[in-house]
Amino acid sequence: MKIICIGRNYTEHIEELNNEKPENPVVFIKPDSAILPKEQAFFIPDFSNDIHYEVEVLVKINKVGKHIAPEFAHKYYDEVGLGIDFTARDLQSKLKSKGLPWEKSKGFDGAAVIGKWLPKDKLPNVNQLCFRLEKNETVVQNGNTALMLWKTDELISYVSSFFMLKKGDVIFTGTPAGVGKVAVNDYLAGYLEDEEMFSLKIK
Ligand code: ZN
Repeated sequence: MKIICIGRNYTEHIEELNNEKPENPVVFIKPDSAILPKEQAFFIPDFSNDIHYEVEVLVKINKVGKHIAPEFAHKYYDEVGLGIDFTARDLQSKLKSKGLPWEKSKGFDGAAVIGKWLPKDKLPNVNQLCFRLEKNETVVQNGNTALMLWKTDELISYVSSFFMLKKGDVIFTGTPAGVGKVAVNDYLAGYLEDEEMFSLKIK
């Protein structure tokens, strides 16, 4: 399986990192080795002093598809989740400034937290989901998918015009404002519509 991530999909997050608003969705891939094994702590890698959390809503692709039209995209997922796109911000900034691919800063081992999955039809409208990340029991990111620049179905359509989507692929739909640094002993917990989707310790 592959993990397809969307960058710069919430205006306030674009502003907090002083990025330009993109004309098209920003797309990158994490390898499946980036998935943090369930129940495992996240270990800060030695190549970074600035690991950021980015909480994101996820969808899991349920069948093969390419060149999917936006109006049919909803047929390609029936589970919604929540995860963290861990980012070595210091390394990413260095790579970005040189115009180099930023995979090393986003695709390292443990950089993809994938929480539990909820059936889409048990949730309200996918375009109006509230979600949040708590760090040490304080809310640090609070988002709503209504604020996405490109909605989930548009993302699936766009991404599938470049990459064939396969059953089991996961799409990270971008992070809202409030990204920040983690430190040893932090405890993170993510909630989708008030349901706890994952929790983990930083080591
Ligand atoms: Zn992200």
